[in-house]
Amino acid sequence: MSELKKDIRALSREELREFFVSQGDKAFRGNQVYEWLWQKSAHDFESMTNLSKETREALDAHFVINHIKVDSMQRSSDGTIKNAVRLHDGLVVESVLIPTKTRTTACISSQVGCSLDCKFCATARLKRMRNLNPDEIYDQVVAIDKESRLYHNRPLSNIVFMGMGEPLMNYKNVLKSIEMITSDDGLGMSPKRITLSTSGVPKMIKKMADDEVKFHLAVSLHSAIDEVRTSIMPFNTTFPLKDLKESLEYWYEKTKRRITYEYVVWKGINDTQKDIDALVRFCKYVPCKVNIIEYNPIDDGDYEQASAESLNNYINSLERHRIVVNVRRSRGKDIDAACGQLANKN
Ligand code: SAH
Repeated sequence: MSELKKDIRALSREELREFFVSQGDKAFRGNQVYEWLWQKSAHDFESMTNLSKETREALDAHFVINHIKVDSMQRSSDGTIKNAVRLHDGLVVESVLIPTKTRTTACISSQVGCSLDCKFCATARLKRMRNLNPDEIYDQVVAIDKESRLYHNRPLSNIVFMGMGEPLMNYKNVLKSIEMITSDDGLGMSPKRITLSTSGVPKMIKKMADDEVKFHLAVSLHSAIDEVRTSIMPFNTTFPLKDLKESLEYWYEKTKRRITYEYVVWKGINDTQKDIDALVRFCKYVPCKVNIIEYNPIDDGDYEQASAESLNNYINSLERHRIVVNVRRSRGKDIDAACGQLANKN
């Protein structure tokens, strides 16, 4: 039966108001319900206590609330928490809570599986099954916020779209979810605390710039040499570095916001001076900083973290050219919650 009913959170506030008018009721009921659905994250119509029983039954007859369910929660020895999140159709995605001394960051999924084919990423082994809806993305944030308050005594402070999927291949829904996360109708978070991480889809980076989005952009670069990048991220043949560069220049021109490059250094792949020089050149195109991420091995061991010496060569060269560089230690490795490890082992 429920398949015939509509997901009520696909409706805008205006559409909800119209629904009530069509039922011979007052438009402002739409506002009340909207508030229950987003701000208060109601899981069912039953709990909407300022509505009459008849109104709640009418809603129940027409709509469903496709709320996510946190199927299982794993806690790492470092405080990281990984949620396996079940969607209304039974599919599962993962999201991660990453605590540091001063912040709690939610790492959120945007798709079930991924259509890209990065050789070093566990999620890439899963086929892309479908895009997540805006409410499914929003619910992951709400769940992590709850856990942050419960286990770390503070609200969620930051969000990164670095979980499963390529957010720019589900742009419309990701944008809608961010609208609700940042709106006073929703969680009222500042867009400055949100980072969207992409493998680099040039057309969509330009679209984001045109849409004047206010969140931060991170690009998974990993190499600034086309042949090398293609060998680890095969879609680079479709979106080569020249196009990526051009889209990033466009982004900066429009937003004046610095870009973060995510970069893993692997032994025998991108650990030579030639690789470093190429990265330094790439970093000159637009204001940026580089986050060197520790490699999290996935099962088959084709890739290996480069030596500390190679990492130091990178850091020294970048710093010599006055490029900001951070080294990011992995979190939650013991529960397969680190970057690139999300693959529904359960
Ligand atoms: N599709 C988006 C977001 C998901 S991946 C993107 O590509 O940016 C999030 C980050 O984790 C990316 O920078 C990605 O390159 C990195 N990553 C993937 N697999 C990894 C692994 N095994 N170890 C470390 N980082 C990894």
